[in-house]
Amino acid sequence: MLRTVIVSSFLASMLLASGKQDAPKKLWLVKGPTPKVAVKDYMGSFAKLTDGLKKQFFKRIGGTAKTEKAQLEEARSYFARSCKRIELRKGKTTIQKVDVHKDLAEDLVRALNKALQSGYVPKKVEGIAVRGQRGKSTLLSEHALGRAVDLERTINVRRPRVNGKTIRRKAKSSEAAYKALKKNPGSHFAIRWSTVKILLDAGFRWGGFFTKSDPMHFQK
Ligand SMILES: [Zn+2]
Repeated sequence: MLRTVIVSSFLASMLLASGKQDAPKKLWLVKGPTPKVAVKDYMGSFAKLTDGLKKQFFKRIGGTAKTEKAQLEEARSYFARSCKRIELRKGKTTIQKVDVHKDLAEDLVRALNKALQSGYVPKKVEGIAVRGQRGKSTLLSEHALGRAVDLERTINVRRPRVNGKTIRRKAKSSEAAYKALKKNPGSHFAIRWSTVKILLDAGFRWGGFFTKSDPMHFQK
């Protein structure tokens, strides 16, 4: 009996020493609706969109307004009611604030918390950005609708010449495609497979596998 106690306490101390129990003190959570001040910012960017992009925006949100005033109200209401703020907290301090569509907020928070446990400590996560797609500005970005996030833009660089779709098609699995993409001389990204997998499992599409590979980008 005594021996069992000694052995189990030894195992417990080994676990403690290995740091396995040491979950990060930071935690992602869904904070609530997008704050008014952020909505105001998004509306500022919205005003600068081309008519073509505005049209795509209203089509995607199922807008019905006819006058310009009513359309602006519809857009404002979309950011205020259909989007949510998620935050990364360390104790009581907020480290990061990200706004995304409410449909994916919970899944994203769960996935980012899981990624956090697996060692992905984020420095910069970006959600809503009211603009066209980078490098193809006549098409609305999923970021404009809050349906995409970019992880660490500065180290997961978009290289439009790398065809992620072809690499994905030739590979036997997502992991094999990730490895092939990582080896591709044109690629440049630091995002780990464990993080990509967690987000894929949560139902997000990874931009790394897009025709114009965009490894920072996840959308749903
Ligand atoms: Zn993106």
